[in-house]
Amino acid sequence: MNYWTSPALSSTSTTKDDSVCKSYLFLSQHPPNSVKVLLILAVFVFCTLTAAYAQTYDLYVQKMPVVWKDQYSTVLSDATRYWEEKTPGLKFNYVTYPDQSDFVVEWGSKTDDGKFGAYATGAQNYYNKPAISITLGFFKDRKLATVSPEYALDITKHMIGHLLSLPHSTDTNDVMYPSVEYYDSWLQSHEVQKVKPSNNSSKTDWQSRSQKYQAKASDKIIQLEPQVDSANSLLLSAPYTNKAAQAEIQKGWTAYWAAKKSLDDAQKTQTDGGALVLESKYKESYSKFKKSYEFTKIVEKKLADIKKYNKKAYELQYGKNGTKS
Ligand SMILES: [Zn+2]
Repeated sequence: MNYWTSPALSSTSTTKDDSVCKSYLFLSQHPPNSVKVLLILAVFVFCTLTAAYAQTYDLYVQKMPVVWKDQYSTVLSDATRYWEEKTPGLKFNYVTYPDQSDFVVEWGSKTDDGKFGAYATGAQNYYNKPAISITLGFFKDRKLATVSPEYALDITKHMIGHLLSLPHSTDTNDVMYPSVEYYDSWLQSHEVQKVKPSNNSSKTDWQSRSQKYQAKASDKIIQLEPQVDSANSLLLSAPYTNKAAQAEIQKGWTAYWAAKKSLDDAQKTQTDGGALVLESKYKESYSKFKKSYEFTKIVEKKLADIKKYNKKAYELQYGKNGTKS
């Protein structure tokens, strides 16, 4: 791959402007006088300058796959218009057959994450013509993805820039800046400009909120596990013979199973949240951890209820001061 030097292009600069200039020069030289000499000089300079810039490129454009047409139908015409407006006398002309063309424009997809545009001066390809190639589709995580239409336009402008023998620019805002060739770099520079004030900060928010609740929920779970076991022992060892006291202990068992279930739920949602963190789904992981923390609150409430029922049972059996028999 060779970025710019094309012998094929130098032969394409014959324009109407050129011939008008030549005939005007010829006529005005017969017969010359001092005034006309100045005029001739002016016309000569004008014609030389415009002839230097005036250039027509004949492009043959490979038919775009139907699935891409909606998104990218104006990419090439927008890109060529961009350069025509920027460069006096420059013109792109679309031709019907490859052999009429100076250049072929190809659309492609690729399987690696290298450059998204290419330029070849040689003619060792299907069309036997120099070509630029624009990548519109690419494989990411084994799925075919497409570039944004905005990027398609930038990379097409960039490749046409090379076709016009422009070198890379050191200005990051210039379309000839080299990182335009890599979609990831392009995305990064555009996300930094656009997304940072809004989306990016809320993304960070979800991540830190998620982390906060993950820590809160896991601290609670660790703290509650032995307490649930203690409640179990307490209820198992309840020595009451009094019917009302036994009824309280029965309420205690109901509360115990509810506590155990909520502790399970807290642990499960905690695990689910952890899996979402691995996928960087922080908003979703946040709601899991929050839910997990809410389950631990139920566990705490049920444990408090068990203590209350046990105290009531004790009082019913032995009296408030433990004096009843
Ligand atoms: Zn380049």
